[in-house]
Amino acid sequence: MDRQHVESELDLEQTLFTEDEILARLREMAAQIEADYEGKDLLLVGVLKGAVMVMADLARSLDRHVEMDWMAISSYGSGTTSSGVVRILKDLDTDLTGRHVLIVEDIIDTGLTLSWLVANLRSRGPASVEIATLLRKPEALQMDVDVTYVGFDIPNAFVVGYGLDYAEQYRNLRCIGTLAPHVYS
Ligand code: 5GP
Repeated sequence: MDRQHVESELDLEQTLFTEDEILARLREMAAQIEADYEGKDLLLVGVLKGAVMVMADLARSLDRHVEMDWMAISSYGSGTTSSGVVRILKDLDTDLTGRHVLIVEDIIDTGLTLSWLVANLRSRGPASVEIATLLRKPEALQMDVDVTYVGFDIPNAFVVGYGLDYAEQYRNLRCIGTLAPHVYS
């Protein structure tokens, strides 16, 4: 859906990135990834549910073979603050031994989820584990995990759209926008 299909457009405070801007940035990231992984096999690991759109468009922007697998981990409830609690809801089907793994994320906020995920995947004997995220918030810069590919650095606001939800809604919004505080307060 587009912005005008949100019941009240006032719910969306500001459009941060249009669909076209997102796709253009993902194509740039894909070109970089292609160059970096030339001659290597590549396994994209998507984190459900938020990374579904990023994975779909990033993978299709890659002009090479890739494999895709998915994990579901819980970090947020239906609220807007990080709980710091990470739980595997669905594990990978793929054996990571000797594989080049690229974690595909929608957003990194505190980085708690990602630090945990990187450590977890590294313990499975892969050849490499790198991270690609569409969005990164300022707090994430303080974490001790290197993020190799970043789409956009954004301000510290709660954003929805393009896979990112509020209480399971807004994931199918084409753009990414900030949610007005009256929606969740
Ligand atoms: P972290 O552990 O980095 O704080 O949180 C990562 C997860 O929290 C993301 O994968 C995402 O599911 C959720 N998250 C963090 N910030 C936002 C946000 O601004 N909007 C939405 N919808 N989810 C967020």
